[in-house]
Amino acid sequence: MADAAARESMEFDVVVVGAGPAGLAAAIRLKQLAPDAAVCVVEKGGEVGAHILSGAVIEPRALDELIPNWRERGAPLETPARDDRFLYLTARRAIRLPTPPQMHNHGNYIGSLGDVCRWLAAQAEALGVEIYPGFPAADVIEENGRIGGVITGDMGVEKSGRPGPNFQPGMALRASYTLFGEGCRGSLAKRLMARFALRDRVDPQTYAIGVKELWEVPADSHRPGLVVHTVGWPLDWRTYGGSFIYHFGPNLISYGFVVGLDYRNPWLSPFDEMQRFKTHPAIRGYFAGGRRISYGARALSEGGLQSIPRLVFPGGALIGDSAGFLNVPKIKGTHAAMKSGMLAAEAVAAALAGGRPAEIAGYPEAVRASWLWDELSAARNIRPGFARFGLFGGIAYAGLDTYVLRGRAPWTLHHRHADHTTLLPADAAPRIAYPKPDGVLTFDRLTSVFISNTNHAEDQPPHLVLRDPAEWQPVNWARYRSPESRYCPAAVYEAVGVEEGQPRLQINAQNCVHCKTCDIKDPAQNIDWVTPEGGGGPNYPSGM
Ligand SMILES: Cc1cc2nc3c(=O)[nH]c(=O)nc-3n(C[C@H](O)[C@H](O)[C@H](O)COP(=O)(O)OP(=O)(O)OC[C@H]3O[C@@H](n4cnc5c(N)ncnc54)[C@H](O)[C@@H]3O)c2cc1C
Ligand code: SF4
Repeated sequence: MADAAARESMEFDVVVVGAGPAGLAAAIRLKQLAPDAAVCVVEKGGEVGAHILSGAVIEPRALDELIPNWRERGAPLETPARDDRFLYLTARRAIRLPTPPQMHNHGNYIGSLGDVCRWLAAQAEALGVEIYPGFPAADVIEENGRIGGVITGDMGVEKSGRPGPNFQPGMALRASYTLFGEGCRGSLAKRLMARFALRDRVDPQTYAIGVKELWEVPADSHRPGLVVHTVGWPLDWRTYGGSFIYHFGPNLISYGFVVGLDYRNPWLSPFDEMQRFKTHPAIRGYFAGGRRISYGARALSEGGLQSIPRLVFPGGALIGDSAGFLNVPKIKGTHAAMKSGMLAAEAVAAALAGGRPAEIAGYPEAVRASWLWDELSAARNIRPGFARFGLFGGIAYAGLDTYVLRGRAPWTLHHRHADHTTLLPADAAPRIAYPKPDGVLTFDRLTSVFISNTNHAEDQPPHLVLRDPAEWQPVNWARYRSPESRYCPAAVYEAVGVEEGQPRLQINAQNCVHCKTCDIKDPAQNIDWVTPEGGGGPNYPSGM
């Protein structure tokens, strides 16, 4: 933990880390309940929304509770979901399947979650919340066993680790309570889980990577409100995942491909699966005559109820995807993130008024009594069913669990393995030959990263750190042939020197889109993602 005493500090009642739906909903609820409380939100993106990546079909249940008149106040959710299609793809055909109940989107809205966050931030600021974009929380303040706030990242540190001419030390933001809403695989949340043993007696968290493109298509092929999901090709039956194609806004399509990070074949590249998916005869028409506007990637938490850690520790709590509140069969986490943030805020408001005890005990209790718990409980067996039985068995099990048992199975299927343990050795898995990109429908990684507007100051210490560089050669190279150079969607990792017989890892950290996949999937857990200098990373535009 960094030394907080030597730093300039600011005092708040509550500090929220992360201006995502969880953090912003928490900040708004707090100011609704405790208008005099000093509440601050720090965000590592250069602006609110810059690092937000989602589908996004949004279920408005939590938003209805938080800001009931959101429509009149101009929330950017203007495309109601109208038509759901669920397809199973073979290499040449698309077979329409009945839409599972969790995927019925009547009453939901399609939009850009980044834009929704920008709007939520404006609502929060109107209530007096202080929001600081460009300020990553780099460390926590711990005093006498209680978390007492965060330390923001230093600016102007040179690659060597020495302060440069523009050096500005990070600040200590002190608070009675700190809420961690960093999203999936939060870097501080990870440390807090270890520090306070929050994952004891729960299943390992499991994850997926979602790679997304935003397209503008001709008006005559745009169907506002159309929601398409697919399973099957190009993934094999053992690999969990599929695509989403959402038509919204002015001629926009949000296209994404999700791959469960428990995949086994180290030759698999989620990025290339995403690209070749668009070439399917039943799919390519969606993009015909269109233009790709933006690109990005982000991990999502898939463990569900069984993987939710202990939510509170002295002085703070985990909210949103940092805790794993995502409904996998729905592929929706926004409403869950918001609801968990609101429940945490309600418990914090009570704690502020009640002598500021160390633990916000009311929060886990409120989660357990809420619709969020019921929803995640009903969905809890679906994802592990796919891990156990593969695609077809998983669909059959999901049907049984949903239609016959109605989410009330008298058993719970557990997640047996953490995702970093599932790779087969490279020589035991089939190589996958991906087609070359054509530059019109399909693209390479570097062209893609370019339109994510990713930028990191050149002269700064690397934010992707190998704990033990000597481990890469015998583990990542010799056993798995550098899987990171395939699962990273931003061409950060490159195995170089292969032809000379001296393979080594080159890390192009400036390309990193902060998806967190390497931190999750590295087989030796040797890669540690830490926050780079503030404002670094992608800069997703409005609409993404
Ligand atoms: C490809 C994809 C498609 C999805 N589709 C849907 C969908 O259609 N519908 C749906 O409801 N959900 C969807 N989800 C899930 C949804 O996006 C998440 O559940 C939701 O965004 C979680 O909200 P959050 O606030 O917990 O985290 P996030 O939205 O990830 O926000 C976290 C914020 O914290 C910031 N941050 C992180 N660490 C720090 C730090 N140390 N210091 C400062 N700031 C920090 C980040 O920059 C970010 O702005 C999808 C997710 C993905 C990846
Ligand atoms: S380096 Fe890691 S976090 Fe960054 S884009 Fe690649 S896989 Fe994602």
